[in-house]
Amino acid sequence: ACTLGAAPAAPAEAPPAYEDPALPVDERVEDLLSRMTLDDKIGQMTQVDRSALRTQSDLAAYRIGSVLSGGGSAPSPNTPQAWAEMYDSFQRTALSAPLGIPMIYGVDAVHGHNNVRGATIFPHNIGLGAARDPELVERIGRATAEEVSGTGVDWTFAPCLCVARNDRWGRTYESFGETPELPGAMTTLIDGLQGASLDAPGSILATAKHYIGDGGTTGGDQGDTELSEAELRAVHLPPFREAVKRGVGSVMVSYSSWNGVKMHGHRYLITDVLKGELGFTGFVVSDWAGVDQLDGREGFTAAEVRDAVNAGIDMVMVPHDYRRFIELLRGEVRAGRVPMERIDDANRRILAKKFELGLFENPYTDRSYTAGIGSDAHRRLAREAVRKSQVLLKNSGGALPLGKSAKVFVAGKNADDIGHQSGGWTITWQGGSGDITPGTSILEGMRSVASDPSRVVYDRHGNGIDGSYDVAVAVVGETPYAEMEGDRPGSMGLDQEDLDTLARLKASGVPVVVVLVSGRPLDIAARIGDWDALLAAWLPGTEGAGVADVLYGDYAPTGRLPVTWMRSASQQPINDGDGKDALFPFGHGLTYTGTAPDEPDDPDVPDDPDGPGHPVCTADYRVVSQWSGGFQAEVTVRNTGDAPLDGWKAEWTPPGPLTVNSVWNGTLTRTGDTVSVTGAGWNAKLAPGASATFGFTATGSPAVPAITCTGV
Ligand code: BGC
Repeated sequence: ACTLGAAPAAPAEAPPAYEDPALPVDERVEDLLSRMTLDDKIGQMTQVDRSALRTQSDLAAYRIGSVLSGGGSAPSPNTPQAWAEMYDSFQRTALSAPLGIPMIYGVDAVHGHNNVRGATIFPHNIGLGAARDPELVERIGRATAEEVSGTGVDWTFAPCLCVARNDRWGRTYESFGETPELPGAMTTLIDGLQGASLDAPGSILATAKHYIGDGGTTGGDQGDTELSEAELRAVHLPPFREAVKRGVGSVMVSYSSWNGVKMHGHRYLITDVLKGELGFTGFVVSDWAGVDQLDGREGFTAAEVRDAVNAGIDMVMVPHDYRRFIELLRGEVRAGRVPMERIDDANRRILAKKFELGLFENPYTDRSYTAGIGSDAHRRLAREAVRKSQVLLKNSGGALPLGKSAKVFVAGKNADDIGHQSGGWTITWQGGSGDITPGTSILEGMRSVASDPSRVVYDRHGNGIDGSYDVAVAVVGETPYAEMEGDRPGSMGLDQEDLDTLARLKASGVPVVVVLVSGRPLDIAARIGDWDALLAAWLPGTEGAGVADVLYGDYAPTGRLPVTWMRSASQQPINDGDGKDALFPFGHGLTYTGTAPDEPDDPDVPDDPDGPGHPVCTADYRVVSQWSGGFQAEVTVRNTGDAPLDGWKAEWTPPGPLTVNSVWNGTLTRTGDTVSVTGAGWNAKLAPGASATFGFTATGSPAVPAITCTGV
């Protein structure tokens, strides 16, 4: 029937499919993509630094897909609440653009949410490498993600998976260690950051960086990594392979070059190897202004933008002149020099992560995490990490542990300084001195652990010390730096202030314990004879009490060197297995019983509760690449048993003549027709479940009829 006077109800417009959370992510992506203009798509590929935004409305006007607060950004807000408000305000503007696509906000939360005052600051990666505890690192990832979520931020540019091969490099402390295995094992950080699923509360997107070879440069930060492809693959690729297996959402490209070709234009390594061979399905982001460095001159050119995007970079950290970047990319696409398929591929990768993060459904800050920033639980976790990261290098005459009621004289520029003990990337890019954020200095930690705080006396310079003390503790080492600012092409020794302080302590005649707060090994061989004990504390972060726990013996040290400790700076680069005479080898670490503990079990696998079992060795052979007459192969040996394997030997008989040209991560020998490989160094001992991979290049047939693996 017809009701007179009532206007027919307008047919309810169905919401677009991409807004439907019940649909699979790829369907939502395709639906959204079909509605996007070229400008919408280019905007998604653009990441702008917060301090470079000319006006906030540009976020919507230019459809900008991502904002960051980078190292080079202007100072950030002061409180977690101010961060959350800033985030929400940016998100509101982004959502006001026609398709309502949320922006994704990234920061360098590289040792906790280190841009935010009051956040828990964990040890820098080098200390976590010393702790050799992947499960601990996963918990740190989780705590970091929750603190980051409390400010709205969705994405961290971490973990740095660099394999630091030369300690002169200013980013050595961002490395979990100098072997490919250590950073590979610590990719559990990604599990913690990304959580059970990206849209689970308190999960954020992780970034494996810097792809690839950042830690292998000659000539310092952003330099050239001069290696054969086999060596690059053997040393620098494995951690990225692990990260991709763990589903890392993004990968950041390295400023460095490989054999003279800048990574930001390296199509083979980005598109063929990372996205093809490794099967990476997330998105690739450039480093800060990395694209406009391609031709070595300031400012973007069309060729740089084209080469970077065609090489496989999906999102460009511009970070300043975004209007020019957008204009140039638009021009290159219109001229057909950047194919539309490439733009669509980049958008599919970026949008998929935004859908997976649940940003379309929950675009604003989850305030339930804001109060947890710097919580007691997170600080306890950080203190645990500090304890486990300490490496006892020397302890003669039982100078350590300190007696709880000993009369202790503490000195040194790093003894009572939260900024110094936290290192670079803390509140500001280069870090700072003093109370830059709440925490416990090493001195304060000692006073809290000693039975009577008044027994712990302090003077920064060691003035006033006399022979009445039981022991002196000098907390010396480096002061904060980040990136190229920390390159040390010259001396790697202690500075004059430290030397003067140490001389005063020594002159008093009391035993001297040195705690070295530094991002890397220092050149100390000529001084160490003066010291009764030496503890490498690395860059512990805000919870200095963890250092005190070790000094006073509440925790007996378990850390082991994640890098080789040079005898002299002239030995750099010095790494495990290269036969140089180190002061302390990779893996060295004492404890209070006086003897070095055994090589740690692979901490991934809990000890077998039923007691000793049997190691079982299995080997898996694969050909990685082949060329006329030659090939490259890898063999992964795994202990599938339930007891540790102390050593192993993998053997096979090639079907015909075989000449091996180079081998890595193992020792290869030929006996008659048989080829055998044994594990070397770190690779030789396999805890239950652990695996080791070695590789080689050879000429001859790559076929392997059968491979046997035995324990030795
Ligand atoms: C660093 C990156 C960092 C980026 C953003 C660059 O200078 O190399 O590691 O993620 O800045 O702050």
